[in-house]
Amino acid sequence: MSAQNLDTLVQTNGTPNTIEATVEAARQLFNTGVTKPLDWRLARLTAMNQMLVDHKDDFTAALAADLGKHPTEAWLSEIGFLTAEIAHTVKHLQDWLKPRKASVPLKFQPAAATIVLEPLGVVLVIAPWNYPIQLLLAPIIGALAAGNTVVAKPSEMAPASSAVLARWVPEYLAGAVTIVEGGVPETTSLLDQRFDHIFFTGNGRVGRIVMSAAAKHLTPVTLELGGKSPVYIDDTVEMITAARRIVWGKFMNAGQTCVAPDYVLGTDSALAKLAKELPEAIEELYGAEPAHSLAFGRMINDAAFSRVAGLLAMDLQEESGSALVTGGSTDAATRYIAPTVVHVDAESALMDDEIFGPVLALVTVESAQAAIEFINHREKPLALYVFSEDAGVREAFTVQTSSGALNFGVPAAHLGIPGLPFGGVGESGMGRYHGQHSIDTFSHHKAVLDKPLSPDTMSLIYPPFGAIKKQV
Ligand code: NAD
Repeated sequence: MSAQNLDTLVQTNGTPNTIEATVEAARQLFNTGVTKPLDWRLARLTAMNQMLVDHKDDFTAALAADLGKHPTEAWLSEIGFLTAEIAHTVKHLQDWLKPRKASVPLKFQPAAATIVLEPLGVVLVIAPWNYPIQLLLAPIIGALAAGNTVVAKPSEMAPASSAVLARWVPEYLAGAVTIVEGGVPETTSLLDQRFDHIFFTGNGRVGRIVMSAAAKHLTPVTLELGGKSPVYIDDTVEMITAARRIVWGKFMNAGQTCVAPDYVLGTDSALAKLAKELPEAIEELYGAEPAHSLAFGRMINDAAFSRVAGLLAMDLQEESGSALVTGGSTDAATRYIAPTVVHVDAESALMDDEIFGPVLALVTVESAQAAIEFINHREKPLALYVFSEDAGVREAFTVQTSSGALNFGVPAAHLGIPGLPFGGVGESGMGRYHGQHSIDTFSHHKAVLDKPLSPDTMSLIYPPFGAIKKQV
């Protein structure tokens, strides 16, 4: 059977109805070798792009239903983000797949050493709910571009997005990508299967479950996790723009962004200046009544609302020592939490776990060095944002801290630079993707050495080592 026929056959038969059969079908397609040629990969990327263009309205509506996402934000952070990632990959894929030369030491010359990228096989992608379309499809772009087949599980917490993916992906990417909808039971049985790579985005607790399941089959994992991403700000910066950018990064998607600024460290004087500008920046972006702004999202579900609203209420109790800078109102019926800024101390409940909602904490420190120590006493964050014009301060943060990413002057924007790897370190994750980094993640880097039999320069190192003895 030709590769083309097999592809069609999978499409005609639709998705197999058991998880075992689903994974087996993905493996069978991979084993035919159909996924290896560049043309197959480019065709799949083009098909995904077409799906996003043809059904943009469905994806936009699903994101509005799940998260109250504004259509423009849905485009910027999900649909358009994906079409840009596809365009970048399509443009460069042929170059990225070329064998990479390695230098050959004199003692092994003449010889050619190259690194050849080969697909891994069947990739499992497990996505969270906060960017439910982007975080499912972005790793799939890399997995397909690297010549793999994919089984993908959207988050059950974003049911409209999950449904729209299950509706359209099979039509455009049949066989190459199979969507398995569901929650913990489905993910658990997926994790029983053998994959060649597992790409998980979510929290560290589930990340540990994924990694131990993967260990059974010695399957490599990429874990894109979360954590508290800090900001450091000092007096040297232009505060109005800094405040606006912090507000943008923090309150998009109602603070439910893995790289959102979680808390801001600064001296009393820097934080006082920032605190003055933050309410104005919030008003500029979301109006005087953010509850009425179409640009401001909602908490994903009641449990997420109660968790963040509860933390906020606990923090604002009289004896806590925290001071509300702006916001603070909540509405359980609409799962609305106003864009909120609170000045807290380091022991506040808001400083325990990732806030993952529209509440920004300000924490006073004595100096840049104290901020560095504060950060280094905690788990390594997914991102760290420094607002300072002081070259010494920038250098100190670069050299003395560790984080998935370090941005100066802007939060979150590194995701949109396809040349930059995206991923965490330590508790914020392992592995990286986007652009060429995705190709590297979803490929095996095979070492290929080609040494002509003649002349036999290897004879220089054969026993009985007469020639070498003279040199050592
Ligand atoms: P989650 O870990 O609860 O869920 C992610 C996926 O795991 C879902 O598909 C879910 O069905 C599945 N899952 C949940 N419990 C499971 C279990 N017991 N066994 C097997 N599978 C299970 O993550 P979430 O709450 O949806 O996402 C929020 C977290 O993800 C935050 O910590 C956030 O920072 C992080 N995050 C990280 C990134 C990143 O790119 N690094 C992006 C978005 C979110």
